[in-house]
Amino acid sequence: MRIAKNTFGVGDRFGRQAKPQLRACMLAAEQGIEVIPTWNKSHREHLTVGSEPPGVRRAADAAARALRWDKPYYVDADHINLDTVDGYLDSADFFTLDVAYAIGKPAAPAAVDALLGRHPELIGRIEIGGIEQPFETTREGVAAIASRYLFAVQEAGRIYRYIESAKGAENFITEVSMDETDDPQTPAELLVILAAAADEGIPLQTIAPKFTGRFNKGVDYAGDVAQFSKEFANDLAVIACAVERYGLPETLKLSVHSGSDKFSIYAPIREATARFGAGVHVKTAGTNWLEELIGLAEAGGGGLALAKDVYAGAYDAREALCAPYAAVIDIDAAKLPSPAEVRTWSSRQYTAALRHDRANADFNADLRQLLHVGYKIAAKMGARYFGMLAECEESISRNVTENLYRRHIEPLWGARRAPAESE
Ligand SMILES: [Zn+2]
Repeated sequence: MRIAKNTFGVGDRFGRQAKPQLRACMLAAEQGIEVIPTWNKSHREHLTVGSEPPGVRRAADAAARALRWDKPYYVDADHINLDTVDGYLDSADFFTLDVAYAIGKPAAPAAVDALLGRHPELIGRIEIGGIEQPFETTREGVAAIASRYLFAVQEAGRIYRYIESAKGAENFITEVSMDETDDPQTPAELLVILAAAADEGIPLQTIAPKFTGRFNKGVDYAGDVAQFSKEFANDLAVIACAVERYGLPETLKLSVHSGSDKFSIYAPIREATARFGAGVHVKTAGTNWLEELIGLAEAGGGGLALAKDVYAGAYDAREALCAPYAAVIDIDAAKLPSPAEVRTWSSRQYTAALRHDRANADFNADLRQLLHVGYKIAAKMGARYFGMLAECEESISRNVTENLYRRHIEPLWGARRAPAESE
């Protein structure tokens, strides 16, 4: 399976929005933009919601059938490893092998030596087309990189071969993610990683490195956009070089695990991918669940009441909800309105606080992050939540489609340079 050039990860925590999500890609198709949807759901999300991987496949297939979508689409087993992959083998055709936990575990010295022996080109003056300054590496420096990353790449090889033995090599797309770690990989590190991945025989089609800055859930990028742009472009250059040198798939591209809504880096991504003629995979997730809440609140009545109950529940359980996401949220508790205050809000006030429109003075990024990680509260409501989703389907699906198309797809891939703010 060869991955399409531009792919868009659309998480759907409760499995009810595949159709409006796909509609956003259809709107793009009508404008001549090919964006291939990829339904990603991580093991953590499944555990929190109490869902099973085959449900993601069923929802995607049903949406594609209902809307007569005749292009590809993928189902991504997101952030899996050997402990968790089994449940995804039948239903997924895209596997994100998460080996960030293995970074820094030292590889066997003999394996490091073997890598250095196979790849003398990694040592010395490294010139890569698209990177202005050639850089110098030493044998010790490359050995140190290999010690830090080779075990993780070998781990990816083990996971890849396990999936390959179950599914057959031609039947799935392989991504390797190293984003959930502290430091961005340098060009030299990425080059060593890709050389090692080729040696492992991993037909890598997307790789998610760590980028500079904070990718907090559901809110904009917090960091140095110029530095991000430079790292992103350098990574594209290294990938192009590695594809040529090491025979990795020509489709190999970068994957940005955005945590949703990193609007201020969309323009640099767009500019750099155009310059390199490269594709990109941009993964979002919780932005869709927040549109469910916006659609509920917009509908008023029982929908608005439920949206307020979710906030109250999330507010009360905020410490427990935030703990697993501590590295990817920054919530100023002093800026969270009390549940009692939110109870008095109109539909307009609730949606203004939650909808990701930075031009709106009432937008509250702290509330948005809390609700982003608060989906467990809705999951616990069970039938009441699903019943209300069905009742408020019109406003929810409208918001889901519009969010993906106008705030994400147009700025990333649209023909005209759409403003990041679309309200
Ligand atoms: Zn990730």
